[in-house]
Amino acid sequence: MYQLLRQIPAIHELQQSRLFLELIKTKQASKAKLTEWLQEAVSDIRKEILAGEWKDEDNVVEFTEMVFARVSERLSDHSTYRIRRVINGTGTVLHTNLGRARLSEEAIQQVTETAYSYSNLEYNLSLGKRGSRHDLIEDLVKETTGAEAAMVVNNNAAAVYLVLKALAKGQEVIVSRGELVEIGGSFRVSSIMEESGASLVEVGTTNKTHLYDYEGAITDDTAMVMKVHTSNFKVIGFTKEVSISELKSVAKAHDIILYEDLGSGAIYDLKQDKIGSEPTVTEALENGADLVTFSGDKLLGGPQAGIIAGKKKWIDILKKHQLARVLRVDKMTLAALEATLKAYANEDNVTKSLPTLRAIRLKKEEISARIQAFSAQLSPIWNMVIKSDVSQVGGGTMPEVELETELLLLSTKKHKAQFIHDELRKGTPAVVSRIVYDQIALDFRTIEEHEFEELHKRLKEFE
Ligand SMILES: *Cc1c(COP(=O)(O)O)cnc(C)c1O
Repeated sequence: MYQLLRQIPAIHELQQSRLFLELIKTKQASKAKLTEWLQEAVSDIRKEILAGEWKDEDNVVEFTEMVFARVSERLSDHSTYRIRRVINGTGTVLHTNLGRARLSEEAIQQVTETAYSYSNLEYNLSLGKRGSRHDLIEDLVKETTGAEAAMVVNNNAAAVYLVLKALAKGQEVIVSRGELVEIGGSFRVSSIMEESGASLVEVGTTNKTHLYDYEGAITDDTAMVMKVHTSNFKVIGFTKEVSISELKSVAKAHDIILYEDLGSGAIYDLKQDKIGSEPTVTEALENGADLVTFSGDKLLGGPQAGIIAGKKKWIDILKKHQLARVLRVDKMTLAALEATLKAYANEDNVTKSLPTLRAIRLKKEEISARIQAFSAQLSPIWNMVIKSDVSQVGGGTMPEVELETELLLLSTKKHKAQFIHDELRKGTPAVVSRIVYDQIALDFRTIEEHEFEELHKRLKEFE
């Protein structure tokens, strides 16, 4: 053991070695950083020798190789991005773990240009003086939803928080027990309410709430009736919920705000394609909501954002609140959101230009054609089975909707499905698949033609 320890070359000697100079040449890390990793690798190996993990026959040549192998590994870890592209083979269109909505080409173009250049983010170009970032998008939201006024914040959770804090703090907010939901990553209506300083007044029961439940709960301290779109679950059977249109006159008579957290906030009406029963933002406003909030990266198909739309009187208060600054969005988000909203102006084209709508509306036959095109290029070592299945919209949106799809099931004698599944995920580009009956399952609803070549390359690794 001491024999081995004595053989360890000094750091300055290792720095003279050809291997070290080659690493420097890649220019992916500074000499100082590489030296630091070198020292760490040497110190780790010293500890391993002392712990008896090295044999006396091991020699200094192996030692040096081992040191540099470890430094190279650190270097490649260091130079690959942590945020990586994923080919989504799950078929779930708005996969929250995989970044929800993909942006349209126009949105990406706008983000790139806005990020690379200076912009009029807070500068009114026609007047030549300071402007407001809120103004940039407000007209477009108004046009696409019919709202009187609108503003944009960081995400929908932030939108809910701002509405409650600015308009109901220290007062009461009435919510049906059937709508006290938890959404994804621990966003709870009751918790956000508590955080905002508004007090929650629960009415009705889990399955049934009546108009008289709301009416009976109204006091002088009531600021708001809040409806929450229970995006990620459905109560079925013996149920009753009170709609916005039923609540409208009650809210008006008592001069309280009628607010609906829509969650997804569809602008394009998927009901016309017989997909789900998601209310559109326009419908919610027309039915009488004073304010609605919704996400930018769910059914809307844009960047992460929270959109608040409704009566100007309330939006004006929200815009002036201190929190508006805390929750504001950056120029890249605004650029992407503007391009996404603009797509809705062309009804005929929006379902083609926005990847989210395109994927949700994809018919089984179109998915089948994708599978045919893809599998025609596959090596015969793969066993292929095509199986009818359903894909999910995802993002806690329309949980009851099953989109008809076809899966391509792949297996090979060479490897177990679990192995391929794990390796596909770890490589580049990462591929997220499922395992169905011991085969790799790929749902081509979320795999587009432009990804075929790379997916073929990834599969070749197992041939
Ligand atoms: C998704 C959702 C939220 C949270 O929206 P984020 O944009 O993820 O912050 C809030 N309320 C409802 C009803 C939702 O569906």
